[in-house]
Parts: sequence; structure tokens; C-alpha cells
Amino acid sequence: MRNPQHVERVMRTLGREITGMDLPAVEKISESQAEDPFQILIATLLSARTQDATTHAASTRLFKRARTPRSMARLEVKEIETLIYPVSFYRNKARHVKACCEMLVDRYRGRVPASMEELVTLPGVGRKTANLVLILGFKSGQNICVDTHVHRISNRLGWVKTRLPEETEQALYRSTESRWWPLLNLYLVTWGQNVCRPVYPRCGDCAIAPDCRKIGVRRKTG
Ligand code: SF4
Repeated sequence: MRNPQHVERVMRTLGREITGMDLPAVEKISESQAEDPFQILIATLLSARTQDATTHAASTRLFKRARTPRSMARLEVKEIETLIYPVSFYRNKARHVKACCEMLVDRYRGRVPASMEELVTLPGVGRKTANLVLILGFKSGQNICVDTHVHRISNRLGWVKTRLPEETEQALYRSTESRWWPLLNLYLVTWGQNVCRPVYPRCGDCAIAPDCRKIGVRRKTG
């Protein structure tokens, strides 16, 4: 495990610094929809490779039309496409949304299952989505959701040394204390969208710079 004080210092600083910053789209939907696992699942499916504002607007339009797996499973794929456009890969995502809702109705009695093993059987759902549903929808303290931001920043900080997000998830279980696991996604995604950007991270304005090894960072601002 990394020095626990180091992780604690970074996480506490981030917790303070992200106050007032724009939340990631799925977190916003989670807050506004009383942590409904179904809406978190669908919003996360829509969010892949899509700007936050676009995800949020598309999810809102879709949930206005259908709020439950049963009602959403009855929509035509074409209508879902229209509702979620312009999220990226909207045609694929519309098919996944429909198939996912049908499976929830047929196999899980219209409810979102609460285990990793069951969640990843749903069409279009991988570990990232399943982890976020478990954390936000079921209040799990035993999962880490790793997306591209979490993967990038964990490596820059030197908490892990990995090539793929899947490896990062497993490495973070080993290198951080479990009390931080449910918060890692919120803190690092918010930081990644505002400060530790993929290209030209704002190291000069970064509150955790003294604790960051900046591994792999070549071009930065500040
Ligand atoms: S110091 Fe730079 S690389 Fe490190 S977290 Fe901050 S912005 Fe990212």
C-alpha cells in the first residue's frame, strides 16, 4: 500500500477543493433522482465518451419519457435514439438501453441487481458501470469505479503503475485504504475535468501538486 498519509492528504485536499466545482453528470443525476439505481445505470451507459452536459440533457429527456425498466423496455430503439441524440454512439447505446431494460424485466423482475456478477450480465454493462451503480445506487463501500480520469491521475500521482483502467482498479484496491474507495471516482473525475486534464494539466494551479510525482506529464500549464 502507498503511504496512507499521502493518500489521505491528497484525498482531503481534493475533498475541499472540488466543493463548488461542477459535478460529473452521473453524480448530478444520482443526486437529483434520490440515488435511483436504474437511472444511475442508464445515465452511466449514456455517459461513455460523451460530454457531461450532453449526457445530463439526454438522460433527462429519456427519463421524462420513461422512468422505469418496464416503460423504457416498451420504447422503440428508434425513439430512444432520438431522445438520447447527440450522445456519442447513440445508435449502439439505444440498442443497449432497450436490451438492458428487457433483461431487467425478464430476468430481474424489473429491478436492478445489486451484485457485480449479475450487473455485468446486462447488455453494455462492464465493470466501470457496475461499480458506479453499486457505489451510487446501492451505497457500496467496497467498490472503486475507474474511468479514464481515475486511471490517468492515479498513475500521475504514482499511486499505481498500470497500462489499462482494469489493472488500475485492482491496483487501487491494494494501494489505498477502503474508506476512500467510494470517493475516488467523484474526486478524481472532477479533478480530471477541471485541473488534471489529459493534455496540458494545470499543474501550476493544482492544490495537490506538492504531493504529485507528475509521472508521464510532459506538457503542462502554470
Ligand atoms: S500536479 Fe499536475 S499532474 Fe499532478 S494532479 Fe495536479 S495537475 Fe495533475
